[in-house]
Amino acid sequence: MTAKPPAVRATVHGYPRQGPGRELKKAVEGYWKGRIGADELRRIGRDLRLATWRQLAEAGLTEVPTGGFSYYDHVLDTSLMVGAVPERHRRAVDTDRLDGMFAMARGTQEAAPLEMTKWFDTNYHYLVPELSPDTVFTADSSQQTGEIREALDLGLAARPVLVGPVTYLLLAKAAPGAPAGFEPLTLLDRLLPVYAQILADLRAAGAGWVQLDEPALVQDRTRAELDAAARAYRDLGSLADRPKLLVASYFDRLGEALPVLAATPVEGLALDFTGPAARNLDDLASIGGLPGKTLVAGVVDGRNIWINNLEKSLATLATLLGLADRVDVATSCSLLHVPLDVTLEHDIDPRIVRWLAFARQKTTEVVTLARGITEGTTAIADQLSANRADLASRAASALTRDPAVRARAAAVTDADSRRSRTYGERGAAQRARLGLPPLPTTTVGSFPQTDDLRAARAALRTGRLDTAGYEEHIKSAIGEVISFQEKAGLDVLVHGEPERNDMVQYFAEQLTGYVATRHGWVQSYGTRYVRPPILAGDISRPEPMTVRWTTYAQSLTGKPVKGMLTGPVTMLAWSFVRDDQPLADTARQVAMALRDEVLDLETAGTAVIQVDEPALRETLPLRAAGRPDYLAWATEAFRLTTGGVRPDTQIHTHMCYAEFGDIIQAIDDLDADVISLEAARSHMQVAHELAGHGYPREAGPGVYDIHSPRVPSTDEVIALLRKGLRAIPDDRLWVNPDCGLKTRGWAETRASLDNLIAGARSVREELLRG
Ligand code: GLN
Ligand code: ZN
Repeated sequence: MTAKPPAVRATVHGYPRQGPGRELKKAVEGYWKGRIGADELRRIGRDLRLATWRQLAEAGLTEVPTGGFSYYDHVLDTSLMVGAVPERHRRAVDTDRLDGMFAMARGTQEAAPLEMTKWFDTNYHYLVPELSPDTVFTADSSQQTGEIREALDLGLAARPVLVGPVTYLLLAKAAPGAPAGFEPLTLLDRLLPVYAQILADLRAAGAGWVQLDEPALVQDRTRAELDAAARAYRDLGSLADRPKLLVASYFDRLGEALPVLAATPVEGLALDFTGPAARNLDDLASIGGLPGKTLVAGVVDGRNIWINNLEKSLATLATLLGLADRVDVATSCSLLHVPLDVTLEHDIDPRIVRWLAFARQKTTEVVTLARGITEGTTAIADQLSANRADLASRAASALTRDPAVRARAAAVTDADSRRSRTYGERGAAQRARLGLPPLPTTTVGSFPQTDDLRAARAALRTGRLDTAGYEEHIKSAIGEVISFQEKAGLDVLVHGEPERNDMVQYFAEQLTGYVATRHGWVQSYGTRYVRPPILAGDISRPEPMTVRWTTYAQSLTGKPVKGMLTGPVTMLAWSFVRDDQPLADTARQVAMALRDEVLDLETAGTAVIQVDEPALRETLPLRAAGRPDYLAWATEAFRLTTGGVRPDTQIHTHMCYAEFGDIIQAIDDLDADVISLEAARSHMQVAHELAGHGYPREAGPGVYDIHSPRVPSTDEVIALLRKGLRAIPDDRLWVNPDCGLKTRGWAETRASLDNLIAGARSVREELLRG
């Protein structure tokens, strides 16, 4: 036993880049519009970095992370760092690195952008590296060395943070034109020398430690992939002149990858000890700890917005101290995924603010914990007692616990989540009620959000327009959407969602238990930031949320107007969710609130109700072991939302992605009467996947790709429908776009829907002719 407790350091893996006034977004967009030049953009970027590092150091972090600052996306920066530039962007990048980078991110007239996808199970999106057997990696460490020099010049201890080579390759996809079956991971041996060069450059620039992020290793990995990780860190670890290496993992436990990494000569591992990743603690004990290594312990959750339980974290750290040579305290992952500073939120109930910790507050928590270990808990006695009081106030608060909501959720029975009739009986009743033609046409919900609408919303916010005036704008937008759809000849109409700025926020604002932030911006991708609402307490619905607009739309037409709701899983996925009860319980509460809305719509005469679940697949747990449980509560929540309607009320759902092989059984388990899916780009492949699974109900694989302004021709629609009919019979196939139209312009929307309807009519005639 040592008499004196060890000196524990405090750090974070990364920090929001935006700046307190969203300066980065404004600067980058200003640069794109030509309002500022490249030098000015770089100056603003540098000022933001320096201000962030100074603030982190002043807060008491021993070491600040560098290299994570990005004008667009840090995975894209990694592609430039290793020279992985697709041929079509090569000229742009060689001419000007900054403009070339933006070309890769956003595309140009001649060259399509890189594909964008979600960063693990967060709501951050990165640009997917494109690699092929011809990719030649070259090292460009300028950004990384530049940043650490800036931090060292400030007199700070700094640690560059890079995307690790294994994760980089596992996140990459085969470039168009690469041989079938090409796997980017096979390029590892070519990539490692480039990383070796960059590590040497960073060492020369003054880096003592370099962090390599390998979150891909928390997913289920094959033996070959684990072997690749072992080889990577054995090779990099045996370099002669290199900085110390910290391999970081987060978002889940390392599992089988833990002993693999522990056996490599790297000096440190960073592990996540929050949520389900807390199992890392037992795993670590069972391999005998990390003798001779540093453990960076992620005990402060980097992706939720709740205060830490400091006492619990201290207990975890105390256990960990016996399992490694030294232990540092950290957030579980980069703070990129949380808003900047909760003290800016003057509109949130102060009783709730004290339960919240954004990036700035989480940094302080890490510092406090490190101090508690180094100097003993008496040194942080004040913080501990305040923390205890805050946690207790949350646990006991009437804001988080509504007895009526709890009683109702507890009384839910299996029957509540089942429709009263089989699909066969329902389908017949719905056909009789709706009288639709074969291959009925519809849309997914939203219509173009016009400048007039955006201006009206802004005017409402600033008080230049009153509620009545704003509602006139909404009504006129609904009127326009209905009359267009009638003229165009769509069969099932929508009201167009003009009143919704965002499909989750709109409902969150009307549900009790949700809290909205004013400054809680989080980067979604590039310069796009979102403000996820906070699901803080028990959920109930005081008033109908959509009935008024749906019935108004219905009053303008004799055709059926589809009611439009966001489903419970998506309501959770795109919010910051409470962490004091199982997700399944929270989902059930949201489902019951939405069920009320569904039933009110039905009572108001709505015959078709769509409950969107675009997030069902993206929330799938990273490891397969967690999936059955998730899918069970997720599908139950959807069925609870929709299960109370009459047999002749038609329930639709919508999801916007083409790869859903992993969840096809879950889609079936939703028991929706009709599902619309993205399919145009994959040429109706989903129709065949549904058919292969024996999907027994109706489906509308999208025939109009709404992700581009391109107008599909009638012939293209016809060809896609014929393809669809080979998988799904004509009495169960719907005709619709891939997704909502809110991001599209009116002109292309009109032309595309006209062609979609013409295509449907033409194929109907073919069917009649037999
Ligand atoms: N009903 C929504 C819309 O049309 C669906 C959006 C989505 O799937 N993300 O906008
Ligand atoms: Zn969609």
